[in-house]
Amino acid sequence: MSDCLFCKIIAGDIPAEKIYEDDHVFAFRDINPMAPLHALIIPKQHIATINDLEEDHAGLMGNLFLAAKQIATDEGYAEEGYRTVMNCGEAAGQTVFHVHLHLLAGRPLQWPPG
Ligand code: 5GP
Ligand code: ZN
Repeated sequence: MSDCLFCKIIAGDIPAEKIYEDDHVFAFRDINPMAPLHALIIPKQHIATINDLEEDHAGLMGNLFLAAKQIATDEGYAEEGYRTVMNCGEAAGQTVFHVHLHLLAGRPLQWPPG
């Protein structure tokens, strides 16, 4: 989608610090990190929110979690633990409407989140 920030990052039109890429998934560091590791893991396909998911996106969503596991392992946080979060809609704090899995690690994480 031409007016989507994250589609522009995938295309390389807006710079980002890439930390993972495969055929279907792209991941980069959050510009405003909330933890020592704060990655955003996104499908290359534009899907706005969880509400827009279809049955045939199920494998792709699994791929986001496999990428999270890979990144957490590569960055040395797999053993101590990490958090994955996907906000859906404005009330949950979603500000970029291209689905993205937050991966946070490297500091104590409170529960429940605010
Ligand atoms: P949301 O609030 O939609 O769940 O998460 C959007 C995230 O995207 C935020 O954590 C925000 O810091 C991050 N973000 C917004 N614009 C940019 C950008 O241009 N580059 C990068 N790397 N992250 C961004
Ligand atoms: Zn997009």
